[in-house]
Amino acid sequence: MTPDPAHDSTGDMPPAAFREHGYAVVDRIASYLEEVGELPVLSPVEPGWVADQLPATPPSDPESMEQILADVDAIVVPGLTHWNHPAFHAYFAITGSGPGILGEALTAAFNVNGMLWRTSPAATELEQVTLDWLRQLLELPAGFAGVIMDTASMATLVALAAAREAAGLQIRTQGMAGRADLPPLAIYASTETHSSIEKAAITLGLGQRSVRKVDVDEAYRMDPGALRHTMLEDLRAGVRPLAVVPTVGTTATTSIDPVTAIADVRDEIEEELGGKVWLHVDGAYGGLAAICEEHRHVLDGVERADSFVTNPHKWLFTPIDCSAFYVRDPDVLTTAFSLVPDYLETTDHDVTNYMDWGVQLGRRFRALKLWMVIRWFGADGLAARIREHVRLAGLVVDWVEQHPDLELAAPAPFSTVCFRAALDDHDDLDALNAALMERVNRSGRAYLSHTVLDGRYTLRLAIGNLRTTEERLRDTLALVDEHLADLA
Ligand code: PLP
Repeated sequence: MTPDPAHDSTGDMPPAAFREHGYAVVDRIASYLEEVGELPVLSPVEPGWVADQLPATPPSDPESMEQILADVDAIVVPGLTHWNHPAFHAYFAITGSGPGILGEALTAAFNVNGMLWRTSPAATELEQVTLDWLRQLLELPAGFAGVIMDTASMATLVALAAAREAAGLQIRTQGMAGRADLPPLAIYASTETHSSIEKAAITLGLGQRSVRKVDVDEAYRMDPGALRHTMLEDLRAGVRPLAVVPTVGTTATTSIDPVTAIADVRDEIEEELGGKVWLHVDGAYGGLAAICEEHRHVLDGVERADSFVTNPHKWLFTPIDCSAFYVRDPDVLTTAFSLVPDYLETTDHDVTNYMDWGVQLGRRFRALKLWMVIRWFGADGLAARIREHVRLAGLVVDWVEQHPDLELAAPAPFSTVCFRAALDDHDDLDALNAALMERVNRSGRAYLSHTVLDGRYTLRLAIGNLRTTEERLRDTLALVDEHLADLA
């Protein structure tokens, strides 16, 4: 083995080398953010290409950072689909902003595990304060207490576990298998709900069949009348309703379920049942719009929820992952999850040990990046960017409505627009729309995604990147136009 002056006796990077490589990496990041808009947004590589470029076995000798970074440029970057690209409009478009990226770097450097308050008081207390700031920005009730989860999927899993606990069925201790005393349990969401609700039911042993998919109206919002009907029918059949999960900003169309009317149904069913029915609101994407005063109404009714989730990694310019989960009564979470082995016992009083609030023991210091993002932009700055994204989406709506060969597929209350090509004389519009999306995406100049609405293939254009300017967006619309004309 050749001795390498870049490695110190510990094998790690000495401070001088860290500075040198660190500055080089920061330079790379700055250049990447400057130039990302010129890269092909959807990675053009074929399946297996990245793996083929890499040795099948790990290096036995140390390699230089220059070699490693050269491979990042040559192998990793071509294999990236650039979520930080201004023409990334697929799924929900996002931004890893400068302050968020620097926050991630500091989190890695501190490398603290925030499982207990004492394992880093700053991790716990910054999380409490930052989530309370976000709570205020969204005008959630003062009693809501927050915890950061990796994703909304995990927050919903934890919420539904809490719902199960709150039902008083002793499932924590007794489990569910082989219990004659346990009625069938049910969770209610709409046909437009995110798959994470069903995944939580799978994970919690409730089974997919426990998830009732309630009908939606013409704007893809849960129908409270249909919800009431389904829940009453279940009650009559001896089914125990556990939770109702409306969504503010559904995944496909960003429709907003009427949370207040749904909370009324929940209250009525609770009365009938004589037991707790949890209300968990999924605002993973749409909930953040409430930062803007004019959009605050999207969270109407959430003050009656038992829990609420929203993802700063979706529409608050915070690098993935960062999901803000709020509960009205944290004691239910700790009753569901707290389990303290001897080695984690502490004598600290009046502190929050976040390990008691969910599944994870070890916890990343995610609050740091969110705290830095909120401070860097300020409340008004955050609202201005969300407002701008909604304005840009309005331009897309206008463009679709004025286009002779396109139609709007759903209302667009946020910054995501569902549309499709609708040519009168075409006999396979699904294939046409799929081909249109494929051509746009393969061009490398923009990235759209799709959904299926009422059985029809539908394109989605989501705006959530801070670098998406009106000019850039108009280029993307021209690109869609060009390929549509070609195909038609
Ligand atoms: N809920 C909604 C409405 C979503 O759109 C999504 C993802 O897009 C999720 C939940 C899941 O989010 P996560 O990836 O944070 O688990």
